[in-house]
This record gives sequence, C-alpha cells and structure tokens, in this order.
Amino acid sequence: MPVTTKAQRLEARKQKAREHAAVRARKLVRKAVRQRESRQSGRSRIIGILTVVALIAFGLVMIVGVYDGHRDASAGALIFGLIALAIAGLGVRLVLSDLNPARPWGKARAENCPQCHQPSLREKEMTRVEYHGSVTTTWRGIVTLCSPSCGFTSIRKP
Ligand SMILES: [Zn+2]
Repeated sequence: MPVTTKAQRLEARKQKAREHAAVRARKLVRKAVRQRESRQSGRSRIIGILTVVALIAFGLVMIVGVYDGHRDASAGALIFGLIALAIAGLGVRLVLSDLNPARPWGKARAENCPQCHQPSLREKEMTRVEYHGSVTTTWRGIVTLCSPSCGFTSIRKP
C-alpha cells in the first residue's frame, strides 16, 4: 500500500474536483451547441408547437369532458385543465419568439473571436441539472460560442 501524506491526499482530491469541473463545463458547452442547432433547424419550434397543441387538447378534455357530469371529481379536473391552458398560453409566446429559427442563439458579445477574429461571438447562460439518487445538483455557466464554421467555445461562471 503506497504511503500518502495528508497534503498528497488533499492535492489528489483537488485534482479530482478540477477534473469533474472540466467534464461539467464540456457538457454545458455541448448542450449550448445542441440547443443552437436544434433551434436553427426549426426542430425546437416543431416540438414546441406539438407540446402547446397537446396541452390545449389536454386542457379542453379536462374542462369540457370530465367537468361535465362528474360533480365530485370535477374541481380537480377543472384546475388541471386551466393550468394546462395557462401553460399553453405561455408556450405560444415561446414558440413565436424565442424558438423562432430566424432569431439568433444567445446575446452578441462586443469583442471579436480570439480564434477567427470575427465579431460572431454569442453567449447565453446554460443550466444543467444532475440527479444522484435523491440529490439534485444544478450547474450553471455562461457559454460563449463562435460560428459553427469556427467552432470556438468558452465557458465562465455566471
Ligand atoms: Zn471564431
């Protein structure tokens, strides 16, 4: 068994924490790249529209179908139905503005890209939720992406 000092063990733990942080940073950057691709291809909007349609259908079925007749179970159904319609209402706005394929991902950054020297850097705060058993951890980072042809990415703390 190798002899390790307290300082070495501490250093090993720090090293491991740095590696974990690097892996999480890469995952956040990958998520940002996928999100940009998904929006530009219009896929995000199609999924958004389908979700809104499903919520409206669910809301109407709950309100019209279940509320009509079953007096005892009706209050809960009405509330579920109204909640579904309210979320659908918010979803319509998201589909029309935020998920518009013509709208660029993130916010423009003032400086030029350090790699291609073009003014094409855009940034956005990304969130990733990890579940380990009953523990939920949320990771946040502001991801900067250059154009897909350049491929420059960076991440910093929010
Ligand atoms: Zn670039």
